[in-house]
Amino acid sequence: MITSSKFTRALLVRAALIAALCVQSLEVLQAQQPAEPPSRQAGQQSDRQPGGQRRPAAALPALTFEEYEPKSTLVVEENPRPRASFPFVDVHSHHNRLEPEYVDKLISEMDSLNLRVMVNLSGGSGDRLKQVIAAYKGRYPDRFVVFANPRFDDINEPGYGARAAARLEADIKSGAQGLKVFKNFGMDLKYAGGERVKVDDPNFDPLWAKCAELGVPVLIHIAEPPPFFQPIDRFNERWLELNQFPGRARPPDRYPPFDTLMEERDRMIAKNPKTVFILAHLGYHGSDLARLGRLFDRYPNAYVDIAAVLAELGRQPYTARDFLIKYGDRVLFGKDIYEPSEYTYYFRVLETRDDYIEYYRRRHAFWRMYGLHLPEDVLKKIYSGNAMRLIPGMKQER
Ligand SMILES: [Zn+2]
Repeated sequence: MITSSKFTRALLVRAALIAALCVQSLEVLQAQQPAEPPSRQAGQQSDRQPGGQRRPAAALPALTFEEYEPKSTLVVEENPRPRASFPFVDVHSHHNRLEPEYVDKLISEMDSLNLRVMVNLSGGSGDRLKQVIAAYKGRYPDRFVVFANPRFDDINEPGYGARAAARLEADIKSGAQGLKVFKNFGMDLKYAGGERVKVDDPNFDPLWAKCAELGVPVLIHIAEPPPFFQPIDRFNERWLELNQFPGRARPPDRYPPFDTLMEERDRMIAKNPKTVFILAHLGYHGSDLARLGRLFDRYPNAYVDIAAVLAELGRQPYTARDFLIKYGDRVLFGKDIYEPSEYTYYFRVLETRDDYIEYYRRRHAFWRMYGLHLPEDVLKKIYSGNAMRLIPGMKQER
């Protein structure tokens, strides 16, 4: 032990010496730099003081990452898209309010966006579901779709799967057109003994089988963006969001790794081949579309929505365009948090070939996006065709 710590100390001393030498040689190099060219010395702004020394950093006020908001100087053609070029279905939205005035206002906003059908994923179950359906579909039968949500309060009692399946069947009879599973499933949902409910838990198989039997899709949110599972350091791509919302972090002492959740999810998809699974948020493979492509190739019953992950597509316009053309039958339009003014970013990225498009939520993306200029047939599938095919009871657009 003594020898090894001596050895370590000797290494450290050597490393410090090398570092000091490097700094010295840098200083020598800087001193050898030629002086400013004459034109720059003639009163022009420069970050160098006379004699070639850098100005001390204190000359500029310190900026935090959040404060730095450079205004783009890029001058290029811009094609704003306040309204989608074709009628579309938003398969990923949440609405809890039941007042007729709220629903009427929604309809007028939807009309201005060309949003033909809104899928409200927050239907609940039982009586609550009936109320949601009455409030939305009761007023506008063709403009809304409501998904039911499974209840977990009786997961500790034997026979959960059969009960969950029976509840879903009743909810579908009440008018629900699909099942939405929220993200606590696989992460925070636990059995009474503290054991995590795994995504491929066989207790849920009767529920997935019932969805297949009734021909309704399961829109399911598994995991979170991969950086949420990574150390929160200066290399973390979602540092800002994790700094603003520390509770979103998924540290390894409390959560399974991202890839464990993906493996469980894939096993669930594999063992229920007749059930349609729409993975929310590009299945969190937006930063690795090749991986998502392999998933599509392996499981014909897997689909995704693009809700809240537009910036992933928009930062890789060549790759994303090729991907969406190849897998256009597997991708559905979704937005998640309902804010009418934010749809325009989706239209612009999907439809135009604009450069350097600003994104609306900096904590999701500190980069800008590029238009994918999708071909009309691909756009129509993503906007509405796939939703019409997968969700039963939707009136076909003509
Ligand atoms: Zn959502």
